[in-house]
Amino acid sequence: MCNIALIGCTGNIGMQVAEVVRRYPERFRFSALVCGRDGAGLRALAEEFHPRIALCASDLPEGLHEVFGDCDVAFIAAGGFAGLRYTVAAAEMGKKIALANKESLVCGGALVTELARKHGAEIVPVDSEHSALFQALSFRRDAPFEKLILTASGGPFLRYSEEELSRVRAADALRHPTWHMGAKITVDSATLLNKGYEVIEAKWLYGAPFTKIEAVVHPESIVHSAVLFSDGAVLAQLGYPDMRLPIQLALTYPERLPCTQPLDLVALGSLRFERLPEEKFPCFTLALEAGKRGGTAPTVLNGAAEEAVRAFLAGGISFPKIAETIRETLRRVPMSGDTCYGSLAEADSTARRTARQLLYGE
Ligand code: MG
Repeated sequence: MCNIALIGCTGNIGMQVAEVVRRYPERFRFSALVCGRDGAGLRALAEEFHPRIALCASDLPEGLHEVFGDCDVAFIAAGGFAGLRYTVAAAEMGKKIALANKESLVCGGALVTELARKHGAEIVPVDSEHSALFQALSFRRDAPFEKLILTASGGPFLRYSEEELSRVRAADALRHPTWHMGAKITVDSATLLNKGYEVIEAKWLYGAPFTKIEAVVHPESIVHSAVLFSDGAVLAQLGYPDMRLPIQLALTYPERLPCTQPLDLVALGSLRFERLPEEKFPCFTLALEAGKRGGTAPTVLNGAAEEAVRAFLAGGISFPKIAETIRETLRRVPMSGDTCYGSLAEADSTARRTARQLLYGE
């Protein structure tokens, strides 16, 4: 029996983790369930699964030993910078971490990787692209490769002109062509900030320099990513865009169990690949620059992005203003090379304060 401590249990990913446990009750059970704010959703899950602990994040003890103590897998599905503290705690306890929180590696890549190495924690990717890479690498994080090729749907605005981009609203950004996800990540997919994040995640997960990671547009979202090897072979993982597979595989790998509808290649017809139009999506470039700079830069970028996307979703700012807010925040906030948790948390709050000043003149 595998005990799962699930952080972010009432969100989009968390609910799909619950589906896996429901599908295979003889293999999995929840030892702990933690939600952000949705107390009613948490109660419903607790009544169904009877975990030892069911809490809202605001009621958690300072140390997280109580939450992760008896789990076999810490499944981190909380969103945003707030997810980092859970990943840090689970890494310090040497746990197997199913990681669906991007910010843990985007902001805390150096810290989390070092803690995982030191305490023998294993980080298993849940993001569909990184799961695809993991599969193409035969579940070996240290396998040699020439290039990691991340695919991007391009989001709902791939064909928009700059003028059209200046007029899009939150509702347009939330209509993602291929994936159904939470609001923040759906907007991040529309700005391609998300793809920049995924390049940084890939760097930390597979120890790849940025020169060995490439992002290409693939509008159908069938090829979830691919790996180029030294002999010229490219191995990819294909499937319908459905997070249930990477979520389940993170829990069962290397074993595969029935999960999703099998892919019908003939019914698909053709698949397209294109260059990623960086010039139209400055958030992608900003993310890569911050990733290359390292230290607290990605945390400042992320803090600004979380505030700017919140303002965009509330109808307060235009779509291009998201990138402008991030750029200006990066310019104003002093950076440091120190990546301990305290420095990152401080960089996060300074970035948010600065971004809010830019957004609301607070
Ligand atoms: Mg992804």
